[in-house]
Amino acid sequence: MSITTNIQSIRTHIPGHVRLVCVSKFNPNESIEEAYASGERIFGESKVQELCGKYETLPKDISWHFIGHLQSNKIKFIVPFVSLIHGVDSYKLLTEINKQAEKQGKIVNCLLQVHIANEETKFGFSPDELLATLALPDWKILENVQICGLMGMATFTDNREQIRSEFKILKTLFEKVKSDFFSSSDSFTELSMGMSDDFLIAIEEGSTLVRVGSSIFGSRNY
Ligand SMILES: *Cc1c(COP(=O)(O)O)cnc(C)c1O
Repeated sequence: MSITTNIQSIRTHIPGHVRLVCVSKFNPNESIEEAYASGERIFGESKVQELCGKYETLPKDISWHFIGHLQSNKIKFIVPFVSLIHGVDSYKLLTEINKQAEKQGKIVNCLLQVHIANEETKFGFSPDELLATLALPDWKILENVQICGLMGMATFTDNREQIRSEFKILKTLFEKVKSDFFSSSDSFTELSMGMSDDFLIAIEEGSTLVRVGSSIFGSRNY
């Protein structure tokens, strides 16, 4: 199957209120160009250096999302152009993004990553940590970051009901955070959940941004 046909078939399942992030990590520019030619404009990358290289060489109307684990010393390289950082998994990282954004005169859109999976290895705030962090006034002075919503990854499992229940937990948390902390803001709107294997469930459970890689570009060699 070609990238174009993969996108066409995925697109038939994505309703208008949900945006597709084409996860192009580890794939060459030619693959991104093919997806771009079929109309895609949002691409997700997980390595800073790779993202910067692609940003330099590919069309400037691409909206680049950073979906990986961001190291503090690399924030400055993506601040000039990144549209959304999905995986902000600590308050410290949020303050560091804010600092770099302030230096560069930018406001950077961020999603707070929540740990919903039943696995040790996935990054993110626990739901309790997230609520405790937002209950403190500290984050409100960070004027150069815009918290646009939440992001999460379900457990890597064949158990569809488990995946669904994890997405439900994230959606419930999203609604609570929105009403408790962002009721006076229009910007807290995004719920990033769902990947190649589970994006249909994620959409049913309220996702607004699905991050799809291998179903579009084929399996990665890593
Ligand atoms: C790689 C990655 C994806 C895409 O995964 P696929 O299973 O290839 O669709 C989505 N989200 C994050 C955070 C990733 O690292």
